[in-house]
Amino acid sequence: MRTPTVTDALLARRLVRDVLPPTPLWSYAALDRGAAAALFVKHENTQPTGAFKVRGGLALLASMTAEERARGIVGYSTGNHAQSLAYAAARHGAPCTIVMPERANPAKVRAVTALGAELIQHGATFDEARPYAAQLAAERGARPVSAADEPEIVAGVATAYLELFEQAPDLDTVIVPVGGGSGAAAASLVAAAVAPDCRVVAVQSAASPAAYESWRAGRLVERPNRTRVEGLATGTGFALPQALMRTGLADFLLVDDDAIALAQRSLLRDAHTLAEGAGAAALAALYTHPDAFAGQRVAVVCTGGNAQEEEIARALHLKV
Ligand SMILES: *Cc1c(COP(=O)(O)O)cnc(C)c1O
Repeated sequence: MRTPTVTDALLARRLVRDVLPPTPLWSYAALDRGAAAALFVKHENTQPTGAFKVRGGLALLASMTAEERARGIVGYSTGNHAQSLAYAAARHGAPCTIVMPERANPAKVRAVTALGAELIQHGATFDEARPYAAQLAAERGARPVSAADEPEIVAGVATAYLELFEQAPDLDTVIVPVGGGSGAAAASLVAAAVAPDCRVVAVQSAASPAAYESWRAGRLVERPNRTRVEGLATGTGFALPQALMRTGLADFLLVDDDAIALAQRSLLRDAHTLAEGAGAAALAALYTHPDAFAGQRVAVVCTGGNAQEEEIARALHLKV
């Protein structure tokens, strides 16, 4: 597999910015910044699909030939990668099939169907949807799309970090939530080229630590996948993002699911921002590990806002 470069990210930016305006970067006086000197929120939750992943989908579809697009794509996802592929496929007139776990978030199921993709629900988790999607793609002659082992997707996602470092050139740290790792890999790639003094810190749920353990071990490992935070719910490390994270990350932290829910509540209350759990995980890392960020200028990436009602209710009512 090819390793994407910052040149790929710059090329992807031309494609992505024709469709998506830059997302805002805001500071909020009322939002607890922990021990950090300054805190910025990068609002990927404002994307039309509600998550940063749409950048990767657009870059991927644009990189395919007309003939490849006509044969279609098959992806698997807990929801946001699915919406990204469905959105990009619809723009390019390509058939799109998505395999989601049986008990997927109904808001994400509705969104994927509304975008015109064929939806198949299979398996209890993301990890069970994955081989089924590969089998379907082979049967149909369609392009299987991995959740993270896709250079074009990483290059597309990297456009968020080109924007971020233009909006805030003097950051000490950017905190990025990890599921498969495309976001943290993209951040590593861009920071190394344009903001070498900015540390990239990844965060994952302690209930699904496969990417964290893979990074610590220096090889791909499988781990239990028990987080309720979709978007962070993967049971294996992915090769391409791990290779980029290996040299690119300054640190990798874990947070628990309740800390994520409390960070969601802070964003709702003090930043009038609806984040899904994964979108609040970076802020949860800042609150859980204050010493790691003391006195720094920190950006947290609010990666997505596709929260379901039950999840919002839990965040609002959780006892501290
Ligand atoms: C997918 C996703 C993540 C994790 O991104 P990876 O690139 O898979 O590591 C984080 N937040 C949200 C909202 C997501 O949809």
